Amino acid sequence: MQDNLNRTREAVAAACAAAGRAPESVRLVAITKTFPASDAAALTGLGQADLGENRDQEAAPKAAELAALGLEPVWHFVGQLQRNKARSVAAYADWVHSVDREPLADALDRGAESNGRRLNALVQVSLDGDTSRGGVPVSGIARLAERIAGLGSLDLRGVMAVAPLGWEPAKAFALLNECSEAVRRVDAGATEVSAGMSGDFREAVACGATMVRLGRNVLGEREPMA
Ligand SMILES: *Cc1c(COP(=O)(O)O)cnc(C)c1O
Repeated sequence: MQDNLNRTREAVAAACAAAGRAPESVRLVAITKTFPASDAAALTGLGQADLGENRDQEAAPKAAELAALGLEPVWHFVGQLQRNKARSVAAYADWVHSVDREPLADALDRGAESNGRRLNALVQVSLDGDTSRGGVPVSGIARLAERIAGLGSLDLRGVMAVAPLGWEPAKAFALLNECSEAVRRVDAGATEVSAGMSGDFREAVACGATMVRLGRNVLGEREPMA
């Protein structure tokens, strides 16, 4: 695990260098989905502070297991999220990358408030308009960003996307950069761009990503999802 993590960090740093960017300008979020809490705990022990999950049913008990060990990584929730899970997610997540509709933003805000917490929110964009895979269409970004900015317990921090199937990653992430502008017009400080997975993080870094979400690169191949 130490070797994979080091190799991944070096690959992200190399992608930064190739893009003429400082290595500290990109945050590595290690996606621990399908891997046991012991792996997540080991990563924090290696100094990997940012961990990500995509399903509340798996993330909530994992976060609780780590908390019981006295470990408090920075949890990033990156998956499609149903409104009825918002309260649970708001209890442990520090970042939610997948805010893609107003009722979900409202539910996360209520959940954060009732837990006495604040959440960093990213607007997930559906770059190809196929919202079945999550994300707000490009035309809806400004309105959703304004909604989030007006909520008391959410902090609007930027945008997130997954490159659509069949698209050139560079094209996808260039479009995401334009989407980032729309969010920065609502809040100039909302500069985060969460983009890039194990297969396409180099292109994402070249296009300005500030957070890359890497699972397989760090922890190896996952068992196929049931
Ligand atoms: C699983 C997942 C990742 C990580 O994917 P890898 O290919 O393992 O790097 C990133 N983002 C989201 C939204 C995911 O669900």
